[in-house]
Amino acid sequence: MSNQLIDTLGRGHNNLRISVTDRCNLRCTYCMEEEVVFMDRSELLTFEEVARFVQVAAPLGVDKIRLTGGEPLMRRELPRLVRMLCAVDGIRDVGITTNGILLADHVQALYDAGLRRINISLDTLNPETFRRLTRRDGLEKVIDGILAAKKAGFQPIKVNAVTIRGVNEADVVPLARFAREHGLEMRFIEYMPIGADHWERGKVYFAHEILEQLEQEVAPLVPVEDYDPRAPAMEFRYTDGGGRVGIIASISRPFCMSCNRLRLTADGKLRNCLFAIDEVDVKALLRANAPFADIAEVIRRNVWAKWEGHEINTSRFVKPLRTMHAIGG
Ligand code: SAM
Repeated sequence: MSNQLIDTLGRGHNNLRISVTDRCNLRCTYCMEEEVVFMDRSELLTFEEVARFVQVAAPLGVDKIRLTGGEPLMRRELPRLVRMLCAVDGIRDVGITTNGILLADHVQALYDAGLRRINISLDTLNPETFRRLTRRDGLEKVIDGILAAKKAGFQPIKVNAVTIRGVNEADVVPLARFAREHGLEMRFIEYMPIGADHWERGKVYFAHEILEQLEQEVAPLVPVEDYDPRAPAMEFRYTDGGGRVGIIASISRPFCMSCNRLRLTADGKLRNCLFAIDEVDVKALLRANAPFADIAEVIRRNVWAKWEGHEINTSRFVKPLRTMHAIGG
């Protein structure tokens, strides 16, 4: 199938991230405020509207979907949406990004509905640091969720950690060892200016520092042979056979030129970049039962208008008005 979602720089888009809610049961400091006014439930796209959007996007070339939020597992009956999306012609891959708090309770239903890829966010194995970062308790629940996902048969299971200098760089090695022990793929993410807190470059714990720490304290690493240049993570494998580790170096090694993603927010706005300032409303079209062709044209135009990339490393950078939890990470 030809990909019709090409931008002016020739980038094809097949990867759609769908936020199903802006609500979250954690309050990660780098992501959102403690006190948040959440979207009214009537603002959220219904499952039928999301599925309709995907039915339009799939023939244009979208074949990969990731459900996110907020915390996607806070949206009731999520397995029903998974089932609906897996049934759309052309969709070959539906995944989820979750903080894992509610995962143990839902993981089997998600697997049975057709979900196969799962990313679980976990920045520390230290309960104190967990509380400081998330402003909540729940480390045990996240670990239970990870183990439940493994038991349900999810493979691979990726564990994502945002690393912030002065906050959790001491967690890099324990997390890497935990992942090796349980056959998980650990991925470290450079801290980005997309949350409600005050971001400073000095707080970014850079990819090369993470790699150095892993090589010194865990095991030597080499780049993987089947490296996918379109994937955001640089992937390495431990030479001792202890699995893989990924680094998402959004700041020190932006991957915008190979970006293949577009995003649909929980309230039905289409964004061609995590850091986009402009977004396009598709909810009104979906609610008005607009013809597929009209919605397709809006998607095509939004992709075509995509900029070169985020400008975090320039003086031109402007932080989007929405914080991460309301965009969909
Ligand atoms: N609640 C789900 C979760 O925790 O995975 C999905 C939404 S969350 C916004 C998605 C991802 O964005 C998480 O891995 C989170 O750590 C990451 N994230 C949030 N704010 C970030 C920031 N300022 N820099 C880098 N990653 C961030």
